[in-house]
Amino acid sequence: MLEVKNLEVAYGKIKAVKGISFDVNEGEVVTLIGTNGAGKTTTLRTISGLLRPNSGTITFQGRDLTSVAAHDIVPLGLAHSPEGRRIFPRLTVEDNLNLGAFARKDKQIANDLEAAFDLFPILRERRAQPAGTFSGGEQQMLAMGRAMMSRPKLLMLDEPSMGLSPLMMKKIMTTVTTLQEQGTTILLVEQNAQAALKRATKGYVLEVGKIVLSGSGQELLASDDVRKAYLGED
Ligand code: ATP
Repeated sequence: MLEVKNLEVAYGKIKAVKGISFDVNEGEVVTLIGTNGAGKTTTLRTISGLLRPNSGTITFQGRDLTSVAAHDIVPLGLAHSPEGRRIFPRLTVEDNLNLGAFARKDKQIANDLEAAFDLFPILRERRAQPAGTFSGGEQQMLAMGRAMMSRPKLLMLDEPSMGLSPLMMKKIMTTVTTLQEQGTTILLVEQNAQAALKRATKGYVLEVGKIVLSGSGQELLASDDVRKAYLGED
């Protein structure tokens, strides 16, 4: 579904992503893990068209994305729930969700709003509340619900568990599995390696802009290098 090849991205002279390659097949949950500054967010923002690569290719369902504008990428079926949620605080929960459907003209939007409410019932309860009054966990649910409103084939989640309580983190991670079961393919960026690898069909470990290790979620969870560097084990 998604193939990234030899991707390089720089901010001026700072090379953030240094020639990475990975792929995501339909139905998978693929995770990119790595410490701060590894280049995970930069990678997702480049796939979304928010940054342009210096070199390399990004192919989504057979189509090259490297020169497609961000607002034209969403209708192709690729949604991005960004780091830090980026919800619109003064708008209501419902208006935030509807913004996720900005590119759609079909008649299923109301049904998909109900599906987002079914996924996260608190959003239904608080649909008229300004989103800025939500807790971090609730804002994360809203950001994921908003991304789902574009009916993505591939959903990219950037650190959905960041700053959440263990209980809320579990809820968010369980939802990742639910979405996969409902047919959405997922590219998950996480610092919480354990939670991500547990659910991932495949994982890639990024270090200062390079992929240093890859394998199935189970293989990486069992790897000594991953256990020492990312799971805090001796
Ligand atoms: P984190 O988990 O901390 O968000 P990350 O793996 O997502 O880390 P990136 O945010 O992609 O990492 O950052 C990769 C590198 O690019 C870092 O060295 C960072 O300082 C640098 N960088 C990121 N954004 C910018 C920017 N706008 N201008 C200059 N350098 C940047």
